[in-house]
Amino acid sequence: MTRPTSSPTDNIIGGGASKILYTLQTVHRMGLRNSAKALTSHNTCKACALGMGGQHGGMTNELDEFPAVCNKSVQAQSTDIQPPIPEEIFEHTLADFRELSGREMERLGRLNTPLYKAADSDQLTPISWEWALDRASSAFLNSQPERTFFYSSGRASNEAGFVLQLLARLYGTNNVTNCSYYCHQATGVGMQSTVGTGTATVELEDLTGCDLIFVIGANPSSNHPRFIHKLKDCRDRGGDVIMINPAKEPGLVKFALPKSPSSLIAGGSDIASDYLQPHIGSDLAVLTAIGKALLEQQQLDHDFIEQHTEGFETYRQQLENSDWDDLCNTTGLTKAEIERVAQRYAQSDNAVFAWGMGITHHRHGVENVEAIANLALLRGMVGKRFAGLLPLRGHSNVQGIGTMGVKPVLAQEVFDNIEEAFGIELPTRPGLDTLAGLNAAHEGQMDTALIMGGNLYEATPDSSWANDALDRIGFKLFMTTTLNRGHVRGIDNSEALILPVTARDEEPQPTTQESMFNYVRLSDGGIERLSNVRSETHILCDLAERLLPKCPLDFNEFRISHQVREAIARVVPGMEELADLDVARHEFHIQNRLLHRAEFNTPSRKAQFQSHDWHTADDWLKQSGEYPFRLMSVRSEGQFNSIIYEEKDSYRGVTSRQVVLMGPDDAERLGVSAGDSVTLASAHGTMPSLTVCLFDLPAGNLMAYYPEANVLIGRDTDPRSQTPAFKSVAVAVRAA
Ligand code: SF4
Repeated sequence: MTRPTSSPTDNIIGGGASKILYTLQTVHRMGLRNSAKALTSHNTCKACALGMGGQHGGMTNELDEFPAVCNKSVQAQSTDIQPPIPEEIFEHTLADFRELSGREMERLGRLNTPLYKAADSDQLTPISWEWALDRASSAFLNSQPERTFFYSSGRASNEAGFVLQLLARLYGTNNVTNCSYYCHQATGVGMQSTVGTGTATVELEDLTGCDLIFVIGANPSSNHPRFIHKLKDCRDRGGDVIMINPAKEPGLVKFALPKSPSSLIAGGSDIASDYLQPHIGSDLAVLTAIGKALLEQQQLDHDFIEQHTEGFETYRQQLENSDWDDLCNTTGLTKAEIERVAQRYAQSDNAVFAWGMGITHHRHGVENVEAIANLALLRGMVGKRFAGLLPLRGHSNVQGIGTMGVKPVLAQEVFDNIEEAFGIELPTRPGLDTLAGLNAAHEGQMDTALIMGGNLYEATPDSSWANDALDRIGFKLFMTTTLNRGHVRGIDNSEALILPVTARDEEPQPTTQESMFNYVRLSDGGIERLSNVRSETHILCDLAERLLPKCPLDFNEFRISHQVREAIARVVPGMEELADLDVARHEFHIQNRLLHRAEFNTPSRKAQFQSHDWHTADDWLKQSGEYPFRLMSVRSEGQFNSIIYEEKDSYRGVTSRQVVLMGPDDAERLGVSAGDSVTLASAHGTMPSLTVCLFDLPAGNLMAYYPEANVLIGRDTDPRSQTPAFKSVAVAVRAA
């Protein structure tokens, strides 16, 4: 396959002075005093799960590197620091609110009053807290627990997450779920089946000693900006950074690090030492091909394989039986490209494998993750310092929410510990994950839902279906800091309450968060900005008081956040240090998560190679008939998850989100040019009036922005993790 020698985004560099100026403008908009207070307080960063802040100080990471802040963090602060939404705004109808873009909704200000929408009303009406809590509790009391679900985003604190799942279970349901079922659930399943743990095997410090970092299906220049510093440091030490991503993201090629004058002056530092651009969804074949090349180059660590793994023989046969022509046809890569990357890997002493949702958002997300683990095991790169597996997690506490048990099935040990520690009995009827809960809602089997944070409507694939599913839930209770489009959709014929909550740094008592390195931080809270917001944990305790008056567990005790942490420390293995974290102020890594020794938490104590049939991995496209293009939905530099801070995406050179990004070859073949208008169509919906933007993508591969592109995305999931296939979408490009 021939590659273009120049790319439409060749002149774009990630980071740089524009990022500094943008941050300064945002800081200016927030007011210097406000922003300084927000950024320097001892609170965990509110954006991504790389982690920053906490007791080491604002803008400082766990290695005491300062300043460890990025514009994502500043953007997150800028929404929390807004003044309250004026009450007159609520004189408008829902139809008026629906005309606003995601960014405009976010910019309305902070929610500072409970809101109520009656089933037959088209308005959100300010109400009192007492009325709101009474109405919520009577709705839940009049529902059957199995016709209810409880959901949390990854923004909530450990304390709120723990209380939420206990409340739900004591109320009588295991329908307890979180946003990771839409992002990294495949990671947890794939890592458990191979290395016996569901989270990163490395800590931040390990990134200071590796000599190779794979970044697969991720765009950290936009989504985890501080991670780019670690990639550059690796290059500076003489190491390599290998990107595997269908799209050549300019910020992954070159990045001008705002913290580094030499990087700024030089117009950016090289980040990628090699860049593979396979077809969307061909990851399993790519990873198999690299394994095959390693095998053929005789670069395996046989001692490690023999002593610490099982299943190698079957995997080896899978590699041997894979035909090079088939692998190259499936991936769109040449054998030489794959062999080159395998050689670089073979030369490394300590390799870290990082990946994002480009790996998990497919029908075979778990298998993709297992294939990454297989590659690491081939050379003994799990179970030692400076090497291992690093899923790049999204929201700042998404990992902690899972650790707290906000999921349909509790780990058996946690289940037993809770029953014993609190003298209570938990329900055993299987719970529903996020999409399964909405499926049940669509079937008319859900009467009530508690939705803590996030934007469940926009995060769900198949938007019009999601709207109907949510509207069929008779009563929804939302908790949020700001209004988003998910609060004004899916409520036409149903009742909704929206409760305003404190942001992390406004919590009246300290809270905790867990980073993607399994590092637990303590946030002091304590900043007062608004008059009528409440802590999520307090709201949950208020509800528990009303819903569970005879409960043997006294939820009133959980109004003191220290007591929630003591309870967590008693029942969640590895979290013992949490009990006195607010006294000792000694942040910590959760025990038995990092793998610095080759001791695996599997029945045999050995890591497990997993074998797969990669040939069927892109059957979805072959069967798609009239929809011949592969589309992946992506996030922009100006957004965080479903929150849109800016319409433009400076790293991709586009100024609007209503675009489709395609390679020049496809544009020529379709007879369109940059700036033309087209329609994208899939079996699930259409996106009209999209502006064509040229981007470095292999022929046949397209990108459009999430969450807007959810109208095109069906509800197909990876069968083992139920993660929706947000990035394996068959589409057609049609005239506008
Ligand atoms: S990289 Fe992530 S954790 Fe670090 S400052 Fe940026 S958003 Fe916060």
